[in-house]
Amino acid sequence: AKKNREQHCMYYMQEMEDKTLWRLGMIRQLRTDFSENRLELWYQPQLSLETGKVIGAEALLRWRTADGAFISPEIFIPLAEYSGLIIEIGDWVINQACLQITTLEEQGFDQVSISVNVSIPQFRRSNFVDNIIETTKAHKVQASKLELEITENILMDEPQVVIDSLLKLKEQGISIALDDFGTGYSSLSYLQKLPFDRLKVDRSFVNDITQPGQSLIADTIINLGKQMNLKVIAEGVEDLAQEAHLKEQGCHEVQGYYYAKPMPEQDFLAFLQKNK
Ligand code: C2E
Ligand code: CA
Ligand code: CA
Ligand code: CA
Repeated sequence: AKKNREQHCMYYMQEMEDKTLWRLGMIRQLRTDFSENRLELWYQPQLSLETGKVIGAEALLRWRTADGAFISPEIFIPLAEYSGLIIEIGDWVINQACLQITTLEEQGFDQVSISVNVSIPQFRRSNFVDNIIETTKAHKVQASKLELEITENILMDEPQVVIDSLLKLKEQGISIALDDFGTGYSSLSYLQKLPFDRLKVDRSFVNDITQPGQSLIADTIINLGKQMNLKVIAEGVEDLAQEAHLKEQGCHEVQGYYYAKPMPEQDFLAFLQKNK
């Protein structure tokens, strides 16, 4: 039995080592590929349920390796966060988003805003807020066209620091969305203290919204957002039945495969042209 246990332990250690090596290899590749411009920012349209018009897009990172394969952000974002690379990548994302806002204005789509995802390590950096304000100023973009998507987990450490940062961003006119609401560490009491503009209903709640008795959470979040005078956007909308339910609940905006998948910049511009 002892021998067996020892062997088991060795397998376990081998597995850990493999995992660590895999991780380090991926991080090295990500660093190289980032410096060789293999990261792309794609855009997924967000539409008003009332007018059917595109009101914005969520910017989503794509990593295309040298052999043309895509690696999912679900895999590489955690590695970028773990390694600290997310700081540089995040700066690049915000810069790209500002460039995109400028392009949209130039092409006459001046009602379209761009949302970017912000990771906790990015937010923790002391100069995060000033950096963003500087970047929007350098690009001369209207601050309200840039939206930051943060998750409630950001409140896990030092809520007051977070609240102060958000207030400062808000003062500058930058828009703030609470992403994946209801899936993480949340305290409803903070919701009221934070200067959010939008509440994003997580895909997991939208997913089974049309199953009997399964829409309670989504409905409640939509209602809560409306009561708080926030814009409410549902993500992961995949069919007409879900849209109909969201409309009935008075959800303001939608995003999902039913309308469009995330796409490269040129395709997004063409999508806007067609949707005009
Ligand atoms: P997220 O912020 O919750 O983004 C929404 C995800 O849902 C995206 O996955 C999007 O492609 C996917 N999605 C949108 N509509 C539908 C739908 O109708 N059905 C289904 N099944 N999925 C849909 P993606 O692009 O793979 O990104 C995954 C996550 O990676 C994001 O989740 C976000 O947390 C993170 N991420 C992506 N880009 C960035 C970035 O620039 N910075 C940071 N920090 N994180 C990012
Ligand atoms: Ca998001
Ligand atoms: Ca989300
Ligand atoms: Ca998510």
